[in-house]
Amino acid sequence: MRYISTRGGINPIPFKDAVMMGLASDGGLLLPQSYPVVTREQLESWRGLSYPELAFEVISRFVDDIPAVDLKNLIKSSYATFSHPEVTPVVKRDGVYILELFHGVTLAFKDVALQFLGNLFEYILAERNQRLNIIGATSGDTGSAAIHGVRGKKGISIFILHPHGKTSAVQALQMTSVTDANVHNIAVRGTFDDCQDMVKELFGDLEFKEKYSLGAVNSINWARVLAQVVYYFYAWLRVTDETAAPVNFSVPTGNFGDIFAGYVAKKMGLPVDKLLLATNENNILTRFINKSDYSLSGVVSTVSPSMDIQIASNFERYLFHLFAENPDRVKEAFAELKEHGRVSCSADEMAQVRNDFCSASVDQDATLQEIRDFYAETGYLLDPHTAVGVKAALELLPPDSARICLATAHPAKFSETVERSLGFQVPVPDSVRELYGKPTRCEVMDADIAKVREFFVAHVG
Ligand SMILES: *Cc1c(COP(=O)(O)O)cnc(C)c1O
Repeated sequence: MRYISTRGGINPIPFKDAVMMGLASDGGLLLPQSYPVVTREQLESWRGLSYPELAFEVISRFVDDIPAVDLKNLIKSSYATFSHPEVTPVVKRDGVYILELFHGVTLAFKDVALQFLGNLFEYILAERNQRLNIIGATSGDTGSAAIHGVRGKKGISIFILHPHGKTSAVQALQMTSVTDANVHNIAVRGTFDDCQDMVKELFGDLEFKEKYSLGAVNSINWARVLAQVVYYFYAWLRVTDETAAPVNFSVPTGNFGDIFAGYVAKKMGLPVDKLLLATNENNILTRFINKSDYSLSGVVSTVSPSMDIQIASNFERYLFHLFAENPDRVKEAFAELKEHGRVSCSADEMAQVRNDFCSASVDQDATLQEIRDFYAETGYLLDPHTAVGVKAALELLPPDSARICLATAHPAKFSETVERSLGFQVPVPDSVRELYGKPTRCEVMDADIAKVREFFVAHVG
């Protein structure tokens, strides 16, 4: 299996190189040259597998440069950190299935990918006798999941910038309570954009980037998408254990990474009827699917902050397939976006888009209402991101189908919003309660690139 770029500018590379490259060196995103097909018979034979066993079956089809026994161990240790024996269990409530993706260490679905990526990085770096210094900016979720993915790992240091006092209390503690020597939290007196700008500036300094082997962990890494493909298979198998109804997935979407993993599963032959792309007020992808309107507008802050995104970076991967794997057409589309703030598609292309996805946008009021309604009906607590997906599923997906809603975060992670909606305190899981007693380590500094650079150089391994 070799990997190519959506922009067509690199020679095909093996899996391990794709993991280490992250963003393709021509500015595009990496994709497998072809998708392995899983037959119905094969799929049926996977019913009895545990999550790690199934993960090996799916992931190994994309990886031919890691020995099976090593890959099995990487997968096993990645999912041993989950608090639920099924890793991503499915529960049925009030006519919908909830795929609980929040049993990892930071209570959000990003752990599924970042636990695996952290182990992969450590494995490849050891083999190549290399080091990696990860630098990233976070508004909360990605940073904490990344820190937990690489804490204590050999050959890796991580520096995460977050806006001081502007993440949720739980998110801040999930980062600063990790005191391993290779983890460096920087709380910036400023905004998320200040953090992001400084990280971009460091990456833009190519000499610096080279000298210190800088790396990123954002959702453009192919290994993250790949790890997420697994739970679409897992959920499909659990739900079809009990029903013959057609299967649909509803996915609360920000950067398009999670739903693209569903698209990959479908391309591999998983019998999925519809992928429902659910957005909040930041609805460029909904406008595109429903009205052929992919035009930029400002980012709005909502109660589902991990979906407050304007340009979904992984969308380029889908466009590559939509444009019949023609990199020139992808480049054209991004040139149009840069120049005119939009992307235009033909009628045929839009018909294909609507064949692949349906979409709904759910605003804050409807999200808060759905948290209340669902709790009243079922006694089950939805986090605001999950609530967006559930509301969209109830609106758009046929009630006689198996509607699987991806639960991307634990309600306790966004307890302020859930409590605002319900009017009472939500139970605090032990893993969150324990955070409050732990020692923390964090460097608070001004939004000053010289200071950040100085700190980095002083602490780099
Ligand atoms: C990151 C995130 C999302 C969005 O996922 P994408 O892969 O970026 O589309 C949704 N919900 C939560 C809780 C998240 O952390």
